[in-house]
Amino acid sequence: MTAEIARATRVVVRVPAKVNLELRVGPLRDDGFHDLATTFHAVDIFDEVTVTPDAEFSVSVTGVGEDKVPTDETNLAYRAAALLAERFDVEERCAISIVKAIPVAGGMAGGSADAAATLVACDTLWGLGLRRHELEEIAAELGSDVPFALTGGTALGTGRGEQIVPVLATGTFEWLFALTHEGLSTPSVYAECDRLREGEDVPEPQPSDGLLASLRSGDVHGVALAMHNDLESAALSLMPSLRPLMEMGLEMGALCALVSGSGPTVAFLLKDRQDAVALRRVLEAGGLADDFVHASSTPHGAQVLVVD
Ligand code: ATP
Repeated sequence: MTAEIARATRVVVRVPAKVNLELRVGPLRDDGFHDLATTFHAVDIFDEVTVTPDAEFSVSVTGVGEDKVPTDETNLAYRAAALLAERFDVEERCAISIVKAIPVAGGMAGGSADAAATLVACDTLWGLGLRRHELEEIAAELGSDVPFALTGGTALGTGRGEQIVPVLATGTFEWLFALTHEGLSTPSVYAECDRLREGEDVPEPQPSDGLLASLRSGDVHGVALAMHNDLESAALSLMPSLRPLMEMGLEMGALCALVSGSGPTVAFLLKDRQDAVALRRVLEAGGLADDFVHASSTPHGAQVLVVD
């Protein structure tokens, strides 16, 4: 007698946003990409992705920035489910429903996070039992930031950012993110970076030892000192209004102000939550950003919350 295996009818996965504590961008490669050395850091702003069996793939989106997210086959979550099904000869299909909290086009890898969450959710829904490295390979095909969203915590990314090695990090850091409703497209920021560096001899990107040492010891001041983003000048060139926002944050107690990824979100690192709340009040009154979100570091990546 063969035992009937109960199939899941609903899987819910939550997945964090990221900030790049360091983003070193190498020279433009022949394939149009750049080699990166980047330290990803997950923060507790979570999107939630639910998959349920259905006759066709579909995507619905609610929450922050829902009107800016496509619901057709260009949605990264849709692409993740379709690629997984194709690669493993899965004939089942599913409805993907995304509740967004991660700002859209804010340099916090929201689309990549949803793709990673969908891979984990569909793996569970379809009972594939994939190994970590199998999920990571598919994640890397979907986008440079997708493998990190599977892993979460703090990790070093090399290659296009898709080759991930976890980094030992102690301590929980407090963040205030200043959001701008108008997004910046990642390709346009890289193009501006190339334009600004034209004629320069750009070195191969290397992570800084100072940042890794400060993360190991949980030294928030050391982390603040070592944070760096090679895309920042490009983001500021395309959106000069970010500069006074960052300057005001630094004057008002932030340990560091850095454009997150390709921007335009600005990440402020604070000593504690009290300082973050005080800074938010001042910046809100200054009217230099459209919205603010508090966050803390999180050790989590894409994580199954519910299986029914
Ligand atoms: P990154 O930091 O990885 O460069 P980002 O955080 O700047 O990305 P996303 O929020 O991932 O930007 O959105 C970039 C674009 O991707 C959006 O403008 C949207 O059109 C598209 N997109 C596709 N799928 C999604 C998704 N699931 N969530 C958000 N945006 C998506």
